[in-house]
Order: sequence, then C-alpha cells, then structure tokens
Amino acid sequence: MTRPEGEREIIARIRRTAGNCRDLVVGIGDDCAVYKTALNLVSLVTTDTMVEGVHFDLAWHPPVALGRKAASVNISDIAAMGGLPRFALLSLALTPACESRWREAFLAGFLAVLSEHGVVLIGGDTVQSGHEIVLSVTVLGEMAEAELLTRKTARPGDVVLVSGFLGEAAAGLALCRMGLAQEAVWHPLVSAHLDPVPQVALGRVLATSGLVHAMQDLSDGLATDLAHICAESGVGAVVTAEKIPLSPLLCRAAETCGQSPLDWALAGGEDYQLLFTAGEQQLAGLVAMVSKELGCELYPVGRLVEGRGVFLEEAGQGREISYQGYEHFR
Ligand SMILES: [Mg+2]
Repeated sequence: MTRPEGEREIIARIRRTAGNCRDLVVGIGDDCAVYKTALNLVSLVTTDTMVEGVHFDLAWHPPVALGRKAASVNISDIAAMGGLPRFALLSLALTPACESRWREAFLAGFLAVLSEHGVVLIGGDTVQSGHEIVLSVTVLGEMAEAELLTRKTARPGDVVLVSGFLGEAAAGLALCRMGLAQEAVWHPLVSAHLDPVPQVALGRVLATSGLVHAMQDLSDGLATDLAHICAESGVGAVVTAEKIPLSPLLCRAAETCGQSPLDWALAGGEDYQLLFTAGEQQLAGLVAMVSKELGCELYPVGRLVEGRGVFLEEAGQGREISYQGYEHFR
C-alpha cells in the first residue's frame, strides 16, 4: 500500500507547477508571497484557513478569541518576514449553529486585532456550510524590499534564536482537552492557545536592524519550522535542548498532563513566536538592541551547520528531529 501524501509533499507538488514572473520576489514556500509594487517596495500576501474540529473546538474556543486568533495567525505571517500588515480579507463558511450573537462576537474579536495593528478589513465572502465552520483569512502587508527576511538566506555558523517561551499553546490545548481551561492558574497557557499574539513590532525591529539572516514564525513547532529554514537555505541545524526556553508554568502543566514539556516545545506548534538566525558576531548587538527598543528577551537555542536536517542535542546525545512538528494529512 502506498503511503498517503503529507502536507509537505502536496505543497511541493503544487510548487513545481506554479508560474513565475519578474516582479515576483518570493513565491510558494515561505510565510508570504512577495511581489514588487513600486521602486524598492514590496507587497506581502498570506492566506490561512481554520477548520472547526481541526484547528479549533467551539467547546472551549469562545467566538471573540476565535475571531482574534483568525486575524493573529495571518498577521503573524507578515511579521515572519518583517513586514507591516495593512489590509485583510475575511471569508466565512458558517453553520446554522452560528447565531447572530456568535457572529457578532467573532467579528468583534477579529476587528479588534486588526485595529491593534492598524489593519483595515477590505473584503471577503460569507457562505453557508453544512457541518463545520471554515474561516479563511488573507492579509496583505508591505515593506522595503531591502529589509525583507525570507527562509532562504540562513548561513552555516549562524546562531538560531526564538523570541519567547515555546510549547505554551500546545500546553494550553492539552489543558482545554482535559477540561482544565477554567482553572485560573493555567490562564497564560490557555490564552496562548486561544488568543496568540503576533510579533509584528519585533519582526519590524529585526528586519530594519540588518543583523538577521533568515526568519519565519513558529506555527508548526521548532522541529518543523527550523527544518523549513534549513531546507530553503541548504543548511543543517543543531538545537541544544537545555537552551529551549520553557516557562515554569509549562513544566507544571506538563506534570499535570503527563506530557513532556520539551515535546510540546519542539512539536506542539501554534506559538507564533519568531524563529530567526544571525551571525555570531552580531548576536550581542542584536540582543541589546531588542532589549532596549522593545524590552523583550531573545533566546539562542542552537546553531546552523554545513549539511542537512535538524538535530537535537540532549544530555550529550544527538537525534534528528526534522519535521517532527505538526503536519496535516499525517
Ligand atoms: Mg508562517
């Protein structure tokens, strides 16, 4: 029996058949498609679909938070390249269960996130769905072409950094599934799953710094997302387990849920932190600049090497973890 194609194989097949043109700067295979719009300027376009039962569960996802998340995960892809989000389109396939109060709460959450980032809703579509809600969002952004950060330009010797604690959203989802979402102690983790925060300001600072080589956002887990940068840049990576930032609350939740906090961080996905690489010499300057401008910390988690694949070093042992994060059709 042949193995069914996974998400990556399906995308690779589509990518091979996609067209090209002179003004297309980045096509399929990165966080956004990028095309030239004016002298030295590019537009960024990204689209994402969320399906009830696959990406969200109405049993614990309130409509306001779902609206916020639908906007945030798309804006995160603009942040992933260092862009400024500008416009959004929202397509809704709604079931008969979505009453007017639910729709209004969803839209209020969606529009609140757009307004937090100065993004304007300019169109979309609304249709009836039989059984599952399907939310499809497109966000357009812009930036100077010279500042664009893709996945293709990482270099061997680069330090690999992440912008915050990992595994939080996966822990939050596990707590929701166990019926523990209402316990106040878990709020930061549950909120990371229900209402993630796109790192737009940090993305802009990193892009304008000129110190970062490659970047993307963490949507499928470090193991998979770093493998994307490695594949696109033709490099390998070694991640040090002890350096992965895990919050004390995450470790407590892992005990409660009988899970490994490191597995959540590597494979859980949906953290929407930024993952990026920079030269060793630039590291101290970069950390100091981000601390001064935004007051946030950066976490070096590993290093890029010649070769292929993502390897995890844990207690002196190494193992490959490439693409061990979330993947559809698996
Ligand atoms: Mg992305």
